[in-house]
Amino acid sequence: MLYIVATPIGNMGDITLRAIETLKACAFVIAENPHYSKRLLEHVGAWPKEVVQFAEFNEQQVVKDLTRRLKKEDGCLITDAGTPGISDPGFRLVRECVKENVQIVPIPGANAAIAALCASGLPTDKFMFLGFLQKTAAKTVSALQSASDAEATAIFYESPERILKTLSYISNAFPASQVVIARELTKMHEEFIRGTPLDIIHQLKQKPSIKGEMTVLISFK
Ligand code: SAM
Repeated sequence: MLYIVATPIGNMGDITLRAIETLKACAFVIAENPHYSKRLLEHVGAWPKEVVQFAEFNEQQVVKDLTRRLKKEDGCLITDAGTPGISDPGFRLVRECVKENVQIVPIPGANAAIAALCASGLPTDKFMFLGFLQKTAAKTVSALQSASDAEATAIFYESPERILKTLSYISNAFPASQVVIARELTKMHEEFIRGTPLDIIHQLKQKPSIKGEMTVLISFK
């Protein structure tokens, strides 16, 4: 059996009781980064435990062996933060397990996109999650245009290094849109920055440095 276990996106308190029980009970853990995940497993009392790696660079080599093993033993898939498979490794393993009739059980929990959306103040009735956008202006605008056409709030993940460039594309194409940057969610310096794309560019430029994990939301209404 394969358990898809969500882990915290910053605050170690954001792990469910069921996630802890499942991590303790499973035969082995499948982690994006075993070294990084050891800290979490120790924190929840699920250490020592065998941890095998399933990351972007090796998923194709290990997916079939892992699936064969999951037919006989229970394993928990975790990533560095949040919900596996959401802009993180997971999909290919789940697809193979579906193909091979391995039972899959989600253990829901933290996810940056949903945490950002529910506190953004932007419409939550319809949203389009775009993952990490492709880097050119044309591809950024085309992805956002599809959310605008669907009358959905757009949500995407962005790095602090690229945020000003991305906001400049948004400002040119959608100057009247409402943007929210959810930064460092669940951590000590959690912050929501709200305004038009240009307002946000000004606010970010006033900071001594632009850093931290960011989720960006846009309403076109
Ligand atoms: N699987 C994760 C999830 O469920 O949210 C997302 C993993 S993706 C590789 C990492 C990106 O998610 C970061 O670059 C950032 O854009 C966003 N993110 C993760 N943690 C965050 C946080 N605490 N605050 C804001 N955004 C976050």
